[in-house]
Amino acid sequence: MRSPAKPKTAFKAKKARPAFEINGVEAPAGRLTQVELRVARLPTGMWMAVPVGVLHGTRPGPVIWVSAAIHGDELNGVPIIRHVLDRIDPKRLAGTLLAVPTVNVFGLVQESRYLPDRRDLNRCFPGSKRGSSAAQLAHLFMTEVVARSELGLDLHTGSGGRTNLPQIRCDLDEPETLRLALEFGAPVLLHSRLRDGSLRAAARDEGKTVLVYEAGEASRFDMEAIGMGVDGVTRVMKSLGMIEDEVTAPESASRVARKSGWVRARRSGFCEMTGRLGDEVAKGDAIALIFDALGRARSVTKARTSGILIGHVTSPIVNRGDAIAHIAEL
Ligand SMILES: [Zn+2]
Repeated sequence: MRSPAKPKTAFKAKKARPAFEINGVEAPAGRLTQVELRVARLPTGMWMAVPVGVLHGTRPGPVIWVSAAIHGDELNGVPIIRHVLDRIDPKRLAGTLLAVPTVNVFGLVQESRYLPDRRDLNRCFPGSKRGSSAAQLAHLFMTEVVARSELGLDLHTGSGGRTNLPQIRCDLDEPETLRLALEFGAPVLLHSRLRDGSLRAAARDEGKTVLVYEAGEASRFDMEAIGMGVDGVTRVMKSLGMIEDEVTAPESASRVARKSGWVRARRSGFCEMTGRLGDEVAKGDAIALIFDALGRARSVTKARTSGILIGHVTSPIVNRGDAIAHIAEL
């Protein structure tokens, strides 16, 4: 005998949150979905693709992106994104995180800042569908990632042969940007004007808020810079209401600088930094020593302004006129 039909319950099953659509893929709520953004075919006929992790939360909230390696040799952002993805439970996430750890895939596989044609991807935004390979990659990122987000965190390091104190660069005149930059909690917050062709400028034109995190040096993992980046990204997500977990408070509030400048080498030679990242310097303080092979012709490089040392060269050989040290004026 068949059992009688079950009476309809008064309780409706909880409706799952709709999937997040990107590049024709439906990323379900409550988990991490990997999406491949195809850029171009390699000479082998296989596709070169940018991997995107879509962490789609079960509750409504903002859509943000975190990107790294727009300069293909600036790699600290890759493990930052890995740790952020490990730390956040998509079942408890409000909103959606688009994680793009290797934007410039062409430069990355060649361990280069640039694309194979020597173009700098961060000077090619917003790009175009039929432009250079850099322009096409920029266009793909703008249409698939930026257009779907309201805010972005773009992770960089110093360029080759230079290192940076962990710092946020953004437009301090925008109140919401300033608020989030302070939430990030990097040691220094530096006001920086928009540069033509950068992701930040192109995204700003589309009305998005962008924070740029600069920390460490190219082609190296810097564990301190990575740790500060992970904490910073999660603090921003918490302040946006995306996560409820406890986040570690920054060691101290960010020092805010509106201006910065480079000190240049007055002669060529071997360069020994005497100042350290994060040092507070006064105008005239020695920050580097440049000497010749026998150590005779010596030139002491001095701070031209008072402030905090936020970047310096790491290469032992410098030429007259090279930028040696970057000082933010507090
Ligand atoms: Zn960069």
